[in-house]
This record gives sequence, structure tokens and C-alpha cells, in this order.
Amino acid sequence: MRKFIKGEITMLFNKALILGIGLIGSSLARNLKEKKLVKTLAVYDKNQENLKKAKDLDIADIYTDNIKEGVSEADVIIFATPVCAFGKLAKDMSSYVKEGVIITDVGSVKQYSLREIEKYLNKNNGSIVVGGHPVAGTEKSGPENGFTSLFKGRWCILTPDENSTEEAIKRITEMWESCNMKVDIMTATHHDKVMAAVSHLPQLIAYSIVGTVADLEGYEHKEIIKYSAGGFRDFTRIAGSDPTMWRDIFLTNKQTVLELIQRFIEDLVALERNIRWDEGDKMFDLFKRTQKIRKDVIEAKQDQPEHEKRIMEELQKQQV
Ligand code: NAP
Repeated sequence: MRKFIKGEITMLFNKALILGIGLIGSSLARNLKEKKLVKTLAVYDKNQENLKKAKDLDIADIYTDNIKEGVSEADVIIFATPVCAFGKLAKDMSSYVKEGVIITDVGSVKQYSLREIEKYLNKNNGSIVVGGHPVAGTEKSGPENGFTSLFKGRWCILTPDENSTEEAIKRITEMWESCNMKVDIMTATHHDKVMAAVSHLPQLIAYSIVGTVADLEGYEHKEIIKYSAGGFRDFTRIAGSDPTMWRDIFLTNKQTVLELIQRFIEDLVALERNIRWDEGDKMFDLFKRTQKIRKDVIEAKQDQPEHEKRIMEELQKQQV
């Protein structure tokens, strides 16, 4: 594995470019810079305000809205904008990338992201692509909300394909492990199926429930907010996530999400029937099973990370 030595420090890359300096891009930038994993870190964004915030936070070396300047001499490029922007960015940079550049991303949907990137960046122009998805995040956006420990103890899924090489997979693995993540490898198709179940469907249900409750007639908005601790609050945290990012996820993992929605509707109707026909035993059995799943999540240390606990404690204090 090729590394760059600067003084006593072993570096993973000479020049890294992060596209999109939001929550995830800035959290990765903080890790790369604080741990001195790259010699030069460039960040590119179309949002001038976010570029300025990133500069004020001093999380990179180069801040630019010029793709050519960002890409120039980069030996790793990380796509961290919403996924629907990937294709155009890949096209815009395709004539400036250097031979052997490693291209990776943090997109929450992998088949679409890789298809868009690999239309323009692939073996034919000397780009090596390794898809990635750090399964970590919060409902906040923007560089001011990123932080170094966001990835700690979480999983990063890599989805290599025919445009990847063993060397590139190793280096991207090392990059995420340096951010304290655990790394798993799977196909893009399998990734999208798993994420549709554990992330996309629950998120969609949260958007739907919060929308339904907010639109109910005969309820005061003030009352819904005041008594929100009864379950609604946890859904509002999820439904408070970035609209652009989630719109892109549902539109780009369409078929898998649609299949799960169908299954969810059937299970919801079954619960409705249980209530209507006083089938308490059936409900109890389901709730026992779901209780066990909650315990398994806690045992796997995938329950609320520290930063989410802090947000919940703050909210509870505000309610007292
Ligand atoms: P974010 O905080 O909203 O940051 C995205 C940044 O990219 C913003 O500064 C945005 O500017 C900029 N951007 C948008 N379109 C662009 C374009 N065409 N060219 C250059 N910059 C552009 O988003 P995020 O939460 O970090 O999410 C970024 C990626 O991470 C997404 O692909 C998402 O699927 C993935 N991801 C997110 C999470 C999570 O929980 N948030 C977790 C894992 C993976 P504007 O604000 O002006 O649009």
C-alpha cells in the first residue's frame, strides 16, 4: 500500500478532494485533517455559505467552487453531495482527473450512485471506483453540524465492482478505519435491499406519521407539540432530516422501497384487524418479538450514539 510520509506521520493520500462539505463531508474532513491522513485536503461545494463556514472552521487546506482546481492532482475524490448530484459532477470532472485516481462516495443508495459516477469515471479514463456508505449520521445538515466522532463504532459498507482494485479497496478501508469505523463489503444490490429495510422504510414511515398527525383535524398544533413525548417526538427527530437528501434516496432506490411499502401496508392492515377483532394474543406475540429486536440492537452497541443521547437530554430538559 502506497503511503506518504511527512515528518513522523504516515499519510494515506497526497491530495484528497471532498465534494460537498455538509454533515458527512465535513465530518470526514475533520478526521482526515485532525489525524493528518492526507497531505493536502481540498473541499468543493456549490454553496458559498457552506464553503465559508468550512473555512472558518479550518477543516481543510483548499476551499473551492471550481471543480478543475479541486480535482487537479487529487489522488482520492470522495463524493459527499446528495446522490442526484453525482452524475453531473462526475461528468464535469472527467477530463481533469489524473490517471489512477481513486473515486469513492458516501451515498446512501449504491446502485444508482455507482451507475451515475461510472458513466463518466471508470477504467477507460484511468479512474478506480470503490463505492462506500458510512452508516452514520444525524438529522442535521451543513459543515457546522459535522464532528469527528460521528463515525465512531459505526459500520461503513463498501460496494466494490469491476471498476475497483484490491489496492483501492484496502486504502478506502483504511481511510474509514482511521475514522474509527468498522468496514463491511457487499454488492451494491444487497446494500440497497438492506438499507431499504433498516433505514429507508423507517424514515418514510416517520415522514408519513408526522405528516398525518400534523394534518389531523380537531387537534391544536400547540397541544401536539406540548405532549409530543408520547412517541411522536422520536418520529419528529427522524422526520426532521434533510429533505433533499431523503427525496433523492426514495427516488433512486425506488423499486426496493416500493416493495417494502407494500409489505408494510399488509402488516399494518393485519394489526388493524388484530385491534378490531380483539386479537390481543397476536399483538402481544408481535410486541414480544419486537422487544427482543430492541435488546439485540442494544447488545450490538448500535443503539443511540452519544451525540443523539445529548440531543434527547437537551430536549427533555427543555420540557421540564
Ligand atoms: P448536507 O449536510 O446537506 O451537505 C451536502 C452539501 O453538498 C451541501 O453543502 C450542499 O449544498 C452541497 N451540494 C449539493 N449539491 C451540490 C452540487 N451539485 N455540487 C456541489 N455541492 C453540492 O448533506 P449530508 O447529510 O452530508 O449528505 C451528503 C451525502 O451523504 C448524501 O449522498 C447522503 O446520502 C449521504 N449520507 C448521509 C447521511 C446522513 O445521515 N446525513 C448518512 C450517511 C450518508 P446545498 O446545501 O446548497 O444544497
